[in-house]
Amino acid sequence: MARYKEYNYDQMKMIPVAFDRQILPGSFEYSLSYLIDHELDLTSFDRHYRNDDNGRPAYDPRLLLKIIILAYSKGITSSRQIERLCRENITFMALSADTQPHFSTLADFISRAPEAITDLFSQIVLMCDQLGLIGKEMFAIDGCKLPSNASKEWSGTHAELKKKRQKIDRAVRRMLQRHQEQDNAELAPDIQAREKEQIKKLRAVSRKIKHFLDTETERKGISGKTVKSNITDNESAKMKTSHGVIQGYTGVAAVDSQCQVVVHAEAFGQGQEHGLLKPVLEGIRETFVDTASEKQLKKTQITADSGYHNRGMLEYLEAEGIDAYLADTGFRSRDPRFKDHKSAKERNKRQDKERFSQSEFAIDRKSETCRCPAGKIMWLKARRARIGHHLFMQFQGYEHDCNDCGLRKRCLRNPNQPTPRQINVALDITQEQKAGIIERMKRKIDSPKGRHIYSQRLGTVEPVFGHITDAIGIKRFSLRGKRKVDGQWKLMMLLHNILKIHRYGWEWA
Ligand code: SF4
Repeated sequence: MARYKEYNYDQMKMIPVAFDRQILPGSFEYSLSYLIDHELDLTSFDRHYRNDDNGRPAYDPRLLLKIIILAYSKGITSSRQIERLCRENITFMALSADTQPHFSTLADFISRAPEAITDLFSQIVLMCDQLGLIGKEMFAIDGCKLPSNASKEWSGTHAELKKKRQKIDRAVRRMLQRHQEQDNAELAPDIQAREKEQIKKLRAVSRKIKHFLDTETERKGISGKTVKSNITDNESAKMKTSHGVIQGYTGVAAVDSQCQVVVHAEAFGQGQEHGLLKPVLEGIRETFVDTASEKQLKKTQITADSGYHNRGMLEYLEAEGIDAYLADTGFRSRDPRFKDHKSAKERNKRQDKERFSQSEFAIDRKSETCRCPAGKIMWLKARRARIGHHLFMQFQGYEHDCNDCGLRKRCLRNPNQPTPRQINVALDITQEQKAGIIERMKRKIDSPKGRHIYSQRLGTVEPVFGHITDAIGIKRFSLRGKRKVDGQWKLMMLLHNILKIHRYGWEWA
C-alpha cells in the first residue's frame, strides 16, 4: 500500500522579509526604482495636491509610479489588481514599501495627472538620447487601434440615437399598456416585479440618451462629415481593425530606427490617420527643443504608411523641409519586388485582364452616360465618388440586364456574383496633377534610396506595438476621455522606453 508524507495545517512559521533586499540589482524593478529615485524630476505631480497646510499626507508619486509601471510591465492595468498585488506579491510589497495604496488612489493618480505623465515621458526620451539610444536617422510613425472603456453599442449619429430612443419609448409604452390590460388578470408577483424593473431600466436608458442629445453637439470627422458620437465616451471613435470593429482610440507612436525608442506618443479619438502626422511631428520638435539634438532633427527621415498620405500633408512636409517618405495606396503594386505577390488585388488584376476593360464601354462624360458591350445603358451611380485620393464618376449596370446577360463570363469578375458590373471613370488625374506633389512623392519613394528607407519602417514601428499588446499583454485602454487615454498611452510607451534603458542604456552610458 502507498505511503504518503504527513502534513499538518495547524502550525506557524515566521518568514522574515527584508524589503530592500527584494529589489535585486540587474532586475527591471531595480532599474525602474533607480531611475525614478535618482534620474527623474517628479515635481510636475506636486500641483495636483492641495494638502500643504491641512489634509492627510498623500502617497509619494514616486512610490505610486513605481508600482503602476511595474504592474503595466506585467500586462496589468486594473487598479484593483494592482492593489491586490501590493498585498500579496513580495516584489510589489517591497516596491511600495508595504504601504498598500487603495485602488481608488491608484486610479486617481493615473487619470488625474496626464500632463505630468507627458512631462515624464519627455524626460525619459531625453535620457534615452543622452544614453545614445536614439540615432535620429529615421523616425517611423504609425498608429495602433485599441479599444477603450466605452461601449460601441452606445454609438451612433444623433439621428440614429434619436431613433433608438423612440424605439425604447415605444417598447415602454407597449409594456405599460400590457400591464394595464393584465391588471385584472392576476399576474404572479415575481413576473410583475420583473417587468416593473425592466420598465425602470428602459426609462433610465431613454433619459440617458435624451440628456446626451440635449447637451452634446453632433460630432464631425476631419473631412467635416458627421461621424458617430458615443454616449459612454464621446471622444472615442468606432473604428475598423483587423480584429473587428472596436470603440476606442488610435495610439500613434514615432519610433527611432536605432533601438526602437519611442520619441513621441499621442492618442487620438479617430480611426482615420489623415492629419495625425502634423501633431506628432510638432510633439517631437517640442520634446527636443533647446537641446543639442534640435539641429540634428532637421536631417531625420520620416516614414509613414499610406494612411498618412494626402495632398495637404505632403504640402506641409515640403513647406517644413522635412525629408519624408510616405507610401501611397499604389506603392506595393509599383514595386517590382512584389510582382509575383499573390494578393487578392493581384489575383483580381489577373482576372481583370480577361474581362471587358473600361475602353470597351462607350462612356460620355459630358452627357454622363455609359453603354456596356452588350449595348445596355448603365445608370449613373455617382457623379463624384471619392475612392482613396481620387474622384471618380461611377456607372452601374441594371440588375435585370446583367442577370440575363450572355456576356456575364467576360464582364463580371465572378460570373456568379449577384451585383451588376460597375465602372469607375477617373475625374481628377490630369497631366498637371501628374507633375504635382503627389507624383513627386511617388518618384521619391519609388527610387532605390526611397525603397530602402521605407523598407525599414515596418521593422521599426510594428515591433513596438507587438511588444506592448502581445508580449506584455496590454490590449485595451482602461480609461475614458482623450486626455486620460493619452496619458495612459504615454505611460505604456514610457514603459517600453524604460525597458530599453534597462536592457541597453546602462551599458552604453
Ligand atoms: S454583364 Fe451587364 S454590364 Fe456586362 S455586358 Fe452584360 S449587361 Fe452589360
